[in-house]
Amino acid sequence: MIEAVDALVIGAGPAGLMAAEALAAPGRRVVVAEAMPTPARKFLMAGKSGLNLTKDEPFEAFVQRFRCGSGGCLPPHPRGYFPTEDEAFGPEEVMAWARGLGIELFTGSTGRVFPVGMKASPLLRAWLARLDAAGVELRTRWRWIGGGFRFQTPEGVAEIAPRVTVLALGGASWPRLGSDAAWVPWLQATGVGVAPFRPANMGFRVDWSPQMARHFGVAVKGTALRAGDLASRGEWVIGRAGIEGGGIYEISAAMRDGAEGRVDLAPDLDHPTLAARFARPKGRLSLGNWLRRVLDDPVKVALLLEWGKPLPADAAGWAALAKALPLRHAGAMGIGTAISTAGGVTWDSLTRNRELRALPGVFVAGEMLDWEAPTGGYLLTACLGSGLHAGRAAARRLVALDVG
Ligand SMILES: Cc1cc2nc3c(=O)[nH]c(=O)nc-3n(C[C@H](O)[C@H](O)[C@H](O)COP(=O)(O)OP(=O)(O)OC[C@H]3O[C@@H](n4cnc5c(N)ncnc54)[C@H](O)[C@@H]3O)c2cc1C
Repeated sequence: MIEAVDALVIGAGPAGLMAAEALAAPGRRVVVAEAMPTPARKFLMAGKSGLNLTKDEPFEAFVQRFRCGSGGCLPPHPRGYFPTEDEAFGPEEVMAWARGLGIELFTGSTGRVFPVGMKASPLLRAWLARLDAAGVELRTRWRWIGGGFRFQTPEGVAEIAPRVTVLALGGASWPRLGSDAAWVPWLQATGVGVAPFRPANMGFRVDWSPQMARHFGVAVKGTALRAGDLASRGEWVIGRAGIEGGGIYEISAAMRDGAEGRVDLAPDLDHPTLAARFARPKGRLSLGNWLRRVLDDPVKVALLLEWGKPLPADAAGWAALAKALPLRHAGAMGIGTAISTAGGVTWDSLTRNRELRALPGVFVAGEMLDWEAPTGGYLLTACLGSGLHAGRAAARRLVALDVG
């Protein structure tokens, strides 16, 4: 038997749950189908290292951080994810929404906004309770298997006939949390364009020399990173497999696309000041000890010796090297461990309402769309905003269907 519902949302991540909330607001019957045994696993994982919900900065600055994931193309509107002023769901709206769920927030020194408790679970609990009270029916272990709206469920294969649908299946990173991109060929078969997924906000592999082993796990602080048009003052981490962490993620899109990454080991000193320090006589000091006196940080010295070869002959050369040390890597880490992905459903496959041109009545939201942004709260804000927008657009279509 095929079950008829007003609205079907597939994927219970932040984008799908937000779409469900928007659809339930006017009193529609909403079913959310989720493949995993519990909802929003990636959202909960995001909370393990501190749930960075949004970035408290002016909307105009905020939207500048988004780019089309496959490069070259432009989102359908200069505001990208935020098509019109009135439907914008930017930093202020995310903060108001979280507070509305009873979550106290704080803003860090860089403008990043977190729940006071840092975790995602209290927010998710409150949100699921509100959705439940609004009548949203969450069906876990319901895996969409294509072929229309057919699902593998604990009771066997089930089929739903929705009047409108929001797809919010996520990107392709961390597949064990649920977003495995299995849907790509199904949508492509219906004529929907899907740009290949690539890692975003990921680390880079480094073939370290044995001397670097003692620095594995160390956080590198007080540097400035840049690659192409991207820059970061964020911390990053030296790991056995390579370099990772917020600072690297912020410049990772440019490095992935071929730009050379460089690190300034002394960003608060200008070149002449640093050169004057390097001009101090080395005397009987070992090279390592001499460099430690100049840079005052054993990790920075280790990086300089690791990546700086051939080593410079004079103070000006050392200063130039320390101000723009190349990040010598062996390629981007894989999509499986990336924080997010670039690529996905292409903009020209969609109307401005995020409705698939090839499948009228089917809307798309969240990371499965072809965009990317750095970490810092941009990802979740865009997923929540696009979920709200797709959900509202789907609700308007239901009204139009009622009238028509
Ligand atoms: C370690 C980590 C830390 C992060 N930290 C932050 C952070 O601090 N701030 C930030 O802004 N972002 C962060 N992110 C990114 C953020 O979590 C994601 O961008 C966001 O969760 C994407 O939301 P979404 O709803 O589009 O997709 P997802 O959260 O991936 O949800 C998609 C859902 O669809 C379900 N699904 C997939 N296929 C099917 C199917 N066939 N049938 C049924 N259901 C299906 C999945 O199981 C999943 O529940 C982090 C990500 C990771 C991995």
